[in-house]
Amino acid sequence: MKKFSMVIHGGAGTILKSDMTPELEKAYQVGLEEALNAGYGILEAGGDAMSAVTAAVVKLEDNLLFNAGRGAVFTKKGLQEMDAAVMDGTNLAAGAICGVRNVRNPIELARQVMLHSNHVFLSGKGANDFAIKQGVKLEPDEYFFSQFRYDQWKEIRDSDNYSLDHTHQGIQELMKDKKFGTVGAVACDSKGNLAAGTSTGGMTNKKFGRIGDSPIVGAGTYADNETCAISCTGHGELFIRAVAAYDVSARMKYKKLPLAEAMREVVMDKLVKMEGEGGMIGVDAQGNVAMLFNSAGMYRAMRSSTGEIEIGIYRE
Ligand code: ASP
Repeated sequence: MKKFSMVIHGGAGTILKSDMTPELEKAYQVGLEEALNAGYGILEAGGDAMSAVTAAVVKLEDNLLFNAGRGAVFTKKGLQEMDAAVMDGTNLAAGAICGVRNVRNPIELARQVMLHSNHVFLSGKGANDFAIKQGVKLEPDEYFFSQFRYDQWKEIRDSDNYSLDHTHQGIQELMKDKKFGTVGAVACDSKGNLAAGTSTGGMTNKKFGRIGDSPIVGAGTYADNETCAISCTGHGELFIRAVAAYDVSARMKYKKLPLAEAMREVVMDKLVKMEGEGGMIGVDAQGNVAMLFNSAGMYRAMRSSTGEIEIGIYRE
């Protein structure tokens, strides 16, 4: 049997030990562990990479601590609008949704788009209509509410400083206050098949229907059995412009770089030069794993069938 690996993230940003209580740190670790085990358990039982990715992301979406599904951030209008994408490395099939409301597990809806529509990317009301048609689980607004995200939003809702005007100051402040967050997973199964998935509430106080990189194939999410599976987190506008996830794949394919080196070039060089703060997780078809970020921290965890296991939050 080939080596199989599961990797997840719960968002990158200015995550500092000094801002964390031991209880909160523990809660994040438990949340990461649960999601990692959900995905890894499927791989261990001989399941496929796409099922493992979906199961791990569902766990993170259901956890109030992470900005995806339950616990998603608030928009300028005080709503929760979510984005997600999945990609299957075996055939480059993909499904994505953006600006959806009341969908319990946006990653599941993205998977439904991949499997049961003739399309790749659905938005807003249309995506919600498709969710109803497919019988995807919906929840009332209260389900998604978290006091923590509400308080974050209340602080800035009347201010335009924090809207996405891309000013350096605005972004620095956003990062400082940890207004970013996203969850994602990538997996290599025992057949060497790859899959990637990313799910997010986007950015606190976002407006004008703003969408980040997470649901955009090639920007925040990408998988190709020939190269790698990638899920990104960070300042979405920069990740879109960098075509970050696909660029890792392209560097592997055309420059013949190994996964970790291709990711290093994109995260630590290209994105840093563009002031694109954040990180990504990746896996290749041999089960090699990398978790890289240029921010202060990234919630992350990995486990391989060869016995490697790691759960991290801060820069070591
Ligand atoms: N990349 C996401 C976005 O821009 C946010 C994040 O990863 O924290 O919507």
